[in-house]
Amino acid sequence: MLLEVEGLCVNYGHIEAIRDISFGVPEGTVTTLIGANGAGKTTTLKTVSGLRKVRAGTIRFEGKDITAMSPYDRVKLGISQSPEGRGCFVGMTVRENLDMGAFLRKDRKTAAYREDIDRVFTLFPRLQEREKQTAGSMSGGEQQMLAIGRALMARPRLVLLDEPSMGLAPKLIQQIFSIITEINEQGTTVLLVEQNAAQALKRSHEAHILETGEIVRSGTGAELAGDDAVKAAYLGGD
Ligand code: ATP
Repeated sequence: MLLEVEGLCVNYGHIEAIRDISFGVPEGTVTTLIGANGAGKTTTLKTVSGLRKVRAGTIRFEGKDITAMSPYDRVKLGISQSPEGRGCFVGMTVRENLDMGAFLRKDRKTAAYREDIDRVFTLFPRLQEREKQTAGSMSGGEQQMLAIGRALMARPRLVLLDEPSMGLAPKLIQQIFSIITEINEQGTTVLLVEQNAAQALKRSHEAHILETGEIVRSGTGAELAGDDAVKAAYLGGD
């Protein structure tokens, strides 16, 4: 397992947002958390990246206990997040945003760095066309691409994607999901949070269903996509 979450509990004041969840993300997979609004998906990702503190439980990355580690040190270890709501630096250009994603890297003048920029531009040609445009002047979909590209610039072992398809037109949703598969095939492990369950399950090796802070079902993407209860609750019954 690249990432192991065990007995995780997270509170906001006395609201128990996450209650004793355990799951793993095997290296090389796309692993997905599905759930309705408020189920605790974003909280789980924020806790993995270190932005929220745990009340109880353990998070391990490559077997190492990172539960008390700062977000900064987690990025150094190879965990990077593309946040919900995009979170681009709106006053900065596309290129500057990508450079921010690599803030811990000391190799910015090297061919390896250029290769990573090129990788992002190959995944998202639209970003290359708009390299010098400010993020704030780009469309929602373009900013979503930029947020993912920026997360990749840290050269993560594990990338956390929080609702990458949110608010996008159907055609762009397809494109974002294809890109997630491509990122994974290039060797990056993905922990994905999605409300678009049908698309996400299709592309996931493993998935977990979160309901009010608890994992209620786990299986392969195909198992869950074929499950009647999951279909009724999350796939519009088809
Ligand atoms: P969505 O799909 O709507 O983004 P989610 O599954 O990501 O939902 P979370 O954002 O993790 O859910 O929220 C889980 C629970 O924690 C919800 O009940 C939410 O109201 C609560 N919560 C989240 N953030 C805070 C906060 N900053 N302060 C208080 N409660 C919070």
